[in-house]
Amino acid sequence: MGKRRMKMRKSKLVVLGLIAALALTGCGSKAKEEPKTSPDTDATATAIPSGTFTGEGEGKGGKIKVELTLENGEIKKIDVLENNETQGFADAMQTITDAMIGTNSFDVDSVSGATLTSTGFKTAVENAFEKTGASKDQLVAKEAAGTSNKEEREAAYTADVVIVGAGGAGLTAAIEAANNGASVILLEKMPMEGGNTLISGGEYAAPGNWLQKEEGIEDSKDQFYEDILKGGDYENDPELVRVLADHALESAEWLKDEVNVTFEDYMLFFGGHSVKRSLVPKDASGVELISKLTKKAGEVGVITHLNTTAKELVVENDKVVAVKAEFDGKEITYSANKGVILATGGFGSNLEMRVKYNPEMNEKILSTNSVGSTGDGITMAENVGAELVDMQYIQTYPTCDPELGTLLYVGDVRMEGRSILVNKEGKRFVEELERRDVISRAVVAQTGGVSYMFWDEASMVASGVNVKHQREYDYLIEKGILIKADTIEEAAAFFDIDAEELKKTVEKYNEYAKNGKDEEFNKRGTLTAFTGGPYYIMKSKPAIHHTMGGIKINTDANVINTDGNIIKGLFAAGEVTGDIHGTNRLGSDAIADITVFGRIAGRNAAKAE
Ligand code: ADP
Repeated sequence: MGKRRMKMRKSKLVVLGLIAALALTGCGSKAKEEPKTSPDTDATATAIPSGTFTGEGEGKGGKIKVELTLENGEIKKIDVLENNETQGFADAMQTITDAMIGTNSFDVDSVSGATLTSTGFKTAVENAFEKTGASKDQLVAKEAAGTSNKEEREAAYTADVVIVGAGGAGLTAAIEAANNGASVILLEKMPMEGGNTLISGGEYAAPGNWLQKEEGIEDSKDQFYEDILKGGDYENDPELVRVLADHALESAEWLKDEVNVTFEDYMLFFGGHSVKRSLVPKDASGVELISKLTKKAGEVGVITHLNTTAKELVVENDKVVAVKAEFDGKEITYSANKGVILATGGFGSNLEMRVKYNPEMNEKILSTNSVGSTGDGITMAENVGAELVDMQYIQTYPTCDPELGTLLYVGDVRMEGRSILVNKEGKRFVEELERRDVISRAVVAQTGGVSYMFWDEASMVASGVNVKHQREYDYLIEKGILIKADTIEEAAAFFDIDAEELKKTVEKYNEYAKNGKDEEFNKRGTLTAFTGGPYYIMKSKPAIHHTMGGIKINTDANVINTDGNIIKGLFAAGEVTGDIHGTNRLGSDAIADITVFGRIAGRNAAKAE
């Protein structure tokens, strides 16, 4: 016991040193090392007019409009006036803004992982500057305040627990490890925390939750357990499913009560579940989860190193004892007194790996994933003998942006049970609350490989998706992916859908709603008739969303090797693991999974010897 305390104190000292170092460095933007100098500094400064100038560029989600303020030849302020980037990517624009102001130059690095946003933002700023009539070479570059991260990083660090990946699982594990007395270093290869969790809707399947009670919905751990197994075609490891089902509610309460995550006062009905049980975080966005988890992690003393890519696990005497990582081209060794947790997410953005395990998931299929989801943790674990399971099971999300592959949250009207999916011929072709894989496969088989989601004004008002996701709504209308029209004929004509058939389909559906039974597809939940215009039709197609396969773990989140034994010192949690969801993960089960197993991994790593 005494020995353990000593060890802990030593590593806490290391961590305190780190806090001081980090306070000096600042994160994200990299200062250019050699400042540009102008041949005639004074003349340059007066040649650039002071004032505010607006400019535009094209980001991932469409137009980015900025206002640039210049004063005495210096970049003073950059305000984003308009943008439709996924919420988390606003951080990338802030990172670039800081770098531009800090260096008084437009020649700054893009934020990796947010390349399209970075390019669009930089174009907008340069476009604003062009309106001054001056040349950007006239800006006198200066060195950014503080010192660059590069010099500040040591070659080695030690903590009780080293965690790789600061998405939902990694942050959760970090908090619980710290809560159990461990010093924690969390490594993240991107310039910001979040991963796929950040860009998800953050919904959380919790059987027996407080809203179900209010609405009188009967549910139980056993029913959730059955749904997960059935949804995964019983290919899941029942022991892991049992843990997930038994602890989902308690971990949702932990998020609400301990991490201060705000949940909305409504639920969504995700496909494949037998009842409505999915909690929705504030604004139906993973941003709420990640911002609160990040805040909590900071409060409990977790040290996060961004821009730091884990490359390799170090094994000594059959135990994982360290992680070798790279920061700015330099190798850093992170030693773990107790354990290493892999929480690197899935491999949806790694084309080579996708095709290796499932040739159907080729370059023709778009992806909803963060660019960081490249399966690094799976590869690192495999290299130290871990068993990989279910790698061929890759899930597509059925209703994504047909051009970009991003998730479309306006489409959540489907999970409120208030829309139907039709094809070009104006006919329904699948149960709208079926499993994601079933709907995706059905969509691919339709004309053009797309589906059209149809709903009416009453459904729009009831679901409020145009208000909750207003920026996305405006973007979809502008891009012609979503149409709002007074009549069914007009809406159908926009996408060249057979209007007569669509009208018949709607009439039939209304009849089913009246009788309380969908004769064609047996749609679950309450059927609500369409009552009148305006009508909405949204075009979408499937995109890669979740990789079910990954590292084999046991119920304590220990990583298991190919001989069926525990790899000492190594834990894993989240999308990096396999065997929990079988062939197919049900919507909103991932957040429950990463929270339940993230907590288990954090607690057990903190207690490991
Ligand atoms: P989960 O839902 O399981 O938490 P996420 O996708 O939300 O998964 O988070 C995984 C995180 O791990 C992402 O932020 C990703 O950038 C990060 N990551 C992936 N590979 C590495 C690596 N080699 N080193 C550090 N961080 C990594």
